[in-house]
Amino acid sequence: MHFQNSIDNHSTITPDDSSVFTDKAKSGKIRPWQERKIDSVSYSELLFILEFKKAERVRDCGVILQFQASDTGHLKLYKAWFCKSKLCSLCNWRRAMKHSAQSKKVITEVMKRKLSCRWLFFTFTVKNVYDGEELNKSLADMAKGFGRMVRYKKIDKNLIGFMRTTEVTVNKKDNSYNQHIHAMMCFESSYFKGKENYLTHKDWQAFWKKAMKLDYDPNVFVTAIKSKISSGQDKQAIEDAVNETAKYSVKSEDYLTDDEERNLQIVKDLEEGLFRKRLISYGGLLKEIHKELNLDDAEDGDLIQVDGEDEEKEDAAYTVTAMWNWNRQNYYIKND
Ligand SMILES: [Zn+2]
Repeated sequence: MHFQNSIDNHSTITPDDSSVFTDKAKSGKIRPWQERKIDSVSYSELLFILEFKKAERVRDCGVILQFQASDTGHLKLYKAWFCKSKLCSLCNWRRAMKHSAQSKKVITEVMKRKLSCRWLFFTFTVKNVYDGEELNKSLADMAKGFGRMVRYKKIDKNLIGFMRTTEVTVNKKDNSYNQHIHAMMCFESSYFKGKENYLTHKDWQAFWKKAMKLDYDPNVFVTAIKSKISSGQDKQAIEDAVNETAKYSVKSEDYLTDDEERNLQIVKDLEEGLFRKRLISYGGLLKEIHKELNLDDAEDGDLIQVDGEDEEKEDAAYTVTAMWNWNRQNYYIKND
């Protein structure tokens, strides 16, 4: 009995609350390590039930995080291991930050070189599908169709470049999948000059239909983004469009519902559907600049340095190691 009590009175086994790890961004926002890891763990549990080999890899994602801290206490991740699975919410959060930081660099450079360029934001859709096999095929068709469409003469003649991402959402009513492309496309200002250049919404819908070889009229959404580089407000409009394009390809709330049987089916379908699919791509001048700036692959590359903070050099004063605590479902600071 006495022995038991002495264990209970010591907190060496489970860390106390003073060592809960927090990571505050310079903006003051708390970075969502804990909630992302909780979702990632739930996803790995579904993979274990489905007997996917990669379940272990996902479980091990971001268990130990090593940061360099500056004098002001700001943390910069310098060592961690990420599973890079397309459905992992921890990896998707890092990926979206990286993609958004990269896109902003690329777009800023495009606007320096093409002072009078204009930006349009698109969503291209096709009919929903009902299983993983259909989804996989549809995503392949859409990537090909988009590639065909941007080479059409009437589009190509004014097109400077684009970036596109593919998003898959789950329809809660009938458990179907909706796969669509978000694209930011950059045109010469001549695009808006005269009937021979300007493309109406109807034109875009017809081009997408033709490129996809569809026997129905697909939904296409198009918005012109105000983009005069001198105005701060317009810069915000571009950033909003970038963030919309760079957001997660799949949202974890779509397969982490209260219904486990359904979650299992969705994860199984999405794993099959997204297998070996590229969800982010650049074209034209944006692709060239992405290469010139020596940016690595946001989808498959390093997920440690993601938010462009590497340019704001602050000397590292000390290091902080955070470890995932499986019982407490949170990160705790590890003292050596
Ligand atoms: Zn991961």
